[in-house]
Amino acid sequence: MDEVLSSALRDAVFGRLDYLDRLAEEGDQHSKAALADSEIVRLTGAFRALLADHEPDEHGRCRSCAATPWRRRARCTVWKAAYRDLVGDTVQRTAAPGRHSLRPPRPAVT
Ligand SMILES: [Zn+2]
Repeated sequence: MDEVLSSALRDAVFGRLDYLDRLAEEGDQHSKAALADSEIVRLTGAFRALLADHEPDEHGRCRSCAATPWRRRARCTVWKAAYRDLVGDTVQRTAAPGRHSLRPPRPAVT
């Protein structure tokens, strides 16, 4: 029964996302304006709820993704996807540099 329910939920969510994609790509200006007025707030709300479920603990680990011992060291895939899709990969490199990026640049070899 859980598999049937999961499949129905999954199909309903993907069906809604497909509908919104079609409306955004093929809809007239009135439909697109209505879409922006109603759906963007719903989508950002859903995204915030999803991110809240994956809020990191005091050690920076996701409580949802760290449920299994072998995944505790992995970064949360939900936050990685959110950052990639909402902020962008190029900003991530400059905003969250590794410790080696704090070193001063090496002098040029002549
Ligand atoms: Zn997570």
